[in-house]
This record gives sequence, C-alpha cells and structure tokens, in this order.
Amino acid sequence: MSAIIRPGRSSSTRALTCTTRRQPTARGSAVTPTSAAPTQRERDNSMAREKRDEALLSTLGAEHAEWRPVLALVNAALHEMERAVWADSVPAREHSAATGEPLLSGTTIRIAPGPVHRWVHRAMTIAGAGASATPFADALAGGTFDPMALFEAAVAEDPDRLDDLARAAGDNRGVLRVVGPIVAMPMLHACRKAWTPLVSAAWAEGYCPICGGWPALAEARGLDGQRRLRCGRCGGDWRTERLRCPFCGERGHENLGSLVSEGPEPQTVDVCERCRHYVKALTALVPIRPEDVFLHDLATLVLDVIALERGYCRPAQKGRRVEVIAKPSRLRTLLRLHRWTTG
Ligand SMILES: [Zn+2]
Ligand SMILES: [Zn+2]
Repeated sequence: MSAIIRPGRSSSTRALTCTTRRQPTARGSAVTPTSAAPTQRERDNSMAREKRDEALLSTLGAEHAEWRPVLALVNAALHEMERAVWADSVPAREHSAATGEPLLSGTTIRIAPGPVHRWVHRAMTIAGAGASATPFADALAGGTFDPMALFEAAVAEDPDRLDDLARAAGDNRGVLRVVGPIVAMPMLHACRKAWTPLVSAAWAEGYCPICGGWPALAEARGLDGQRRLRCGRCGGDWRTERLRCPFCGERGHENLGSLVSEGPEPQTVDVCERCRHYVKALTALVPIRPEDVFLHDLATLVLDVIALERGYCRPAQKGRRVEVIAKPSRLRTLLRLHRWTTG
C-alpha cells in the first residue's frame, strides 16, 4: 500500500507534517439513546441500527472473506449487548474519573454466572468454527476452562492472564487475544452507556476514561473539526487537543505528523516521531456509533499497514492498567429468576 507523507513543518528525516486534512466518512451516524423500557421510536432505532450493523458487517465480509469468523463473533457481540443482564451488572464506581483513573478501575462486577457462561460458550463456539478446531470447547465441556476467569481477564484487558488461560486450555496460538476484546464488549458497552455522563469534561488523558484502552481512532468531528478519540473496546468518546499525541502527550508540531494514503479517497494516519505510535484519523460529521467503532477499526486496516510499513506501531501495553474483579452473584441470579417467573 502506497502513501504520501505530507511535507512541511517537520524537522525529522521523514519530513512529516501536521495536516488538518480529514477524510469525510458516510458511515458515521447519530448516537441512539437507550433506556430500560424501549419506546416505539427506540425499537425503530434499534431495527435501523441492526440494519446498519448488518450492512457494515456484510460489506466487510464481502471485501475480506478471511475476516468472516471475526465478523461473525462481532455480530454475536452486537446482539449480546441487547441483553439486560449486562446493564443490570454495571458495577458501582470506586472513584472519580477526575483523578486520571478510568471508571472501570478497581470495580467489582457482580454478575450471575449463567449469562457469562452462556456468552463465553457461544463466543468460543463461533471462534472455534472459523479456525481449525480449538481446544476451548472441550475444555469448557470438561470444566477445565473457567468462563468467569476469561470474562474477568477480557474486561480488564489483561493479555498475560488471557495467555495463561489459553495455555491452560492447551492453546498457544493467541486465540484469546482476538476473542477476549469481543467477549468483553457487552459488559464494557453497558459500562460506557451508564457512565458516559459521569466522565469529566476535563479528562485530559490519551487513554479511555471508561476502560483505560488506547484509542482505536481519532475523529475530526463536525464543522469545527473538534478532535475526539474513540475506544474500540467500549465505544468511549473523549475530547483531545488537535496537536497532542494520545500516547506520550507530545505537543511539539515538529514531532507530530500525518501519513496520507494515495488514491481518490485519501485517508490519514496521525503519527508521533517521539514515541513512534500512530492513531488512524477520520472525519465524521456526526459521531461514529459507539457499537461501530470496533468495525471501523477493522475496516481501516489498510491504514495500519501504511503505518506499520513505515515503522510506526500501536502501543504494546494498555493505556492504563485496570484491576477488575468478577464475582458470581447468587443474588442477581435469584433476582433474574424472580423476574423471569413473574414476567
Ligand atoms: Zn474504552
Ligand atoms: Zn507520542
């Protein structure tokens, strides 16, 4: 994949420049409000959302047949998000986000084990169907693979624990590093929906104020091009300065630049010469829906290739490490049973 490097203000040997050029996208759409009791309008919105999800998924599946197993998993996660159990299990916050700690940090998620087991089992079944047979289905059936442990490690985004769990199940191909973020999506999106109004407008970190993940994308939004960072894990959305590296905080324009792809619809990757990390930059007249950030990240893989070919990378470590405990909640199980039996 070819790309041009905008010449100009940089003193680096790569002669990068900060460009305000942004790629308009037709895929963005308005955020849909949610509530416990859906109105007719919300049901209509939900149906419209499903159609947009399916259109984006089918487009990606048609363009990249090799992604279909992952897309099937994302599709399952998008449907899973609709279940009330995740919203019902959003944990109490342990601190204020103003301290620079993501809201997820230090929380204890009390959740009925049944829905977690069912979702993990479904996710691993889909993942196993796409690749060669994985040992996870056998491990789950044999009781040697703990779905709650996977859920906890996935929500916390702890790659070492995911690798430990994979090895214990007899897999060393990094399957859980792919599956983990998607398994975590229903819980993380429920947290994001509940906590977005609580995020401080003064949040100034490069990592997500909800889950601590690094941004998957940067949006230049609206007519004034306000720069927003977007989290692919929870759909988080937070403001940042136009000239600031999300990863190391560099503000010097001589170290901040953009790679612009060649072609009729040029796209942009913002890069930092100080830390050598990058973030893909899109223009969106309206915000990309939180549930679609992950798919937009996948859909712009060509930009990752452009950046990697030039020696830039995504950070290996999470933006902010968070401790999360997931505990089986017998009370929640009983409450849910009560709800089912009483309608
Ligand atoms: Zn996040
Ligand atoms: Zn940097």
